[in-house]
Amino acid sequence: MVRAASGALSLCGGGTRGVAFGAGEVLETSSLSGIRLYEPGALTLVAGAGTPVAEVEAVLAAQRQRLAFEVPDMRGVLGRGGVSTLGGVVAVNACGPRRVQVGSARDHLIGVRFVDGRGTVVKSGGRVMKNVTGLDLVKLMAGSHGTLGVISEVAFKLQSMPETEMTLRTQVPLAEGLGLLRQALGSPFEVSGAAFGRFGALLRIEGMEASVRYRAQALQDFLGGDWAEVAGRTLWAIVRDGGGLGEGALWRVSCKPTAAEAVVEALHGVEHEATFDWGGGLIWIAVRGVADGGASVIRGALAGVGHATLLRGSGAAVFHPEPPGVAALSRALRAKFDPRAVLNAGIFDQGARG
Ligand SMILES: Cc1cc2nc3c(=O)[nH]c(=O)nc-3n(C[C@H](O)[C@H](O)[C@H](O)COP(=O)(O)OP(=O)(O)OC[C@H]3O[C@@H](n4cnc5c(N)ncnc54)[C@H](O)[C@@H]3O)c2cc1C
Repeated sequence: MVRAASGALSLCGGGTRGVAFGAGEVLETSSLSGIRLYEPGALTLVAGAGTPVAEVEAVLAAQRQRLAFEVPDMRGVLGRGGVSTLGGVVAVNACGPRRVQVGSARDHLIGVRFVDGRGTVVKSGGRVMKNVTGLDLVKLMAGSHGTLGVISEVAFKLQSMPETEMTLRTQVPLAEGLGLLRQALGSPFEVSGAAFGRFGALLRIEGMEASVRYRAQALQDFLGGDWAEVAGRTLWAIVRDGGGLGEGALWRVSCKPTAAEAVVEALHGVEHEATFDWGGGLIWIAVRGVADGGASVIRGALAGVGHATLLRGSGAAVFHPEPPGVAALSRALRAKFDPRAVLNAGIFDQGARG
C-alpha cells in the first residue's frame, strides 16, 4: 500500500487518538496483530504492531510480568472508543507515572520492523539488548508519530511485577507538595511515582515487601510531615490517563520540574485545573473559556523550559513548535525516510480536533 500510494496516507493503529489529523487514505494496522514470540524467562516479547495493548497486558499478567512504562488509556479524556495498539503506543512514545524511574516506551523497545516511505521493509534491533550494530533506528521510531515509517512489528523487554507496592499521601498546598515530591525523587528510596492533584501529594514505592516497608518508613522520616498509606491503583490510573481533569482544552506539558508552578501561575485569571506528575516534570492542564485554549499563555510560559502538546480542544497547533535546529533535523530525517512525504504528512503543522 505504501509503495503504491499516489497521495498522503493517514496511519491508524487502534484509533484511540482519532485518525491522525490530515487527509489521505487511511492505512490501518489492525491486521498486523498477534504475539509472535513471548519468552517469559528471557523477559522478551515480539508482536505485530496492530496487537491490542490489552491483549498483551493480559498475557503478561498471567506470568506476573508487564510493560514497565505504564501504557495510558486516553479514551476517556479523548472521548474515543477503540483499543490502543502496540504500534500506536510506540509511535507516540507513550509512558505513565513510572517514567521517573524506568523511562518511556522508547526505553523498553529493543527491536522494530517498519515500512519506510518508499515501501522498503526495514528491521532494526532484535530480541536481545546487545543487538547494537548499525544506527539505532529503534529509538528513532519511538515518538516519530508515524512520519518515518509504518511500524509493523515491535520487540519489548519486559519487567517482572513487583511483589508489592505502597502509595503514601499527604494533603498540603501546591508549592509545598511539589517541593516534597522533588525531594523524594532526589532521595535514594527508589520512588516510582510522584504526583500532585486534587487528591493531594502522592508517592509510590514498589518492590519486595520488606524493602517497600523499609523504604516507605525511611522516606517519611526523610521528608517529615504527615503521610498516610492509601489504596493507590485508581489514583495512579487517574494521573496516568490525563490527570482526571474536567472539560476544556487538555494540555500535556513537559517542563523542568522547578518551572511547574510558574507555568500554572501564568494562567492566573484563566479558568483552569492542573494535575502534576513526575514531581512537576509533567503537567496535565485543562483550560476553559479561552479562544486558543490557553496556547499563547502556556507556550509563552514554557519558553526555554519545556513544551506543550494539545491533546483535546481546538484553536491551536497540536505540537509545540520545534526550535529551528531541531526542526531542520526532523525535516531532514523525514525527507530521508519518506522522500515523497506520504506518511502522516503535515501532522506536525496542524490543529487538533474540536
Ligand atoms: C496529539 C496527541 C498526542 C499524544 N501524545 C501522547 C504521548 O506523548 N504519550 C502518551 O502516552 N500518549 C499520547 N497520546 C495518547 C495516544 O493516543 C495513545 O497513547 C496511543 O497512541 C494510542 O494507540 P492507538 O493504537 O490507539 O494509536 P492511534 O490513535 O491509532 O494513533 C496514534 C498515532 O500513532 C500513529 N500510529 C499508529 N500506529 C502506527 C504504526 N503501526 N506505525 C506508525 N505510526 C502509527 C498514528 O498515525 C497516530 O499519529 C497522544 C494523543 C494525542 C491526541
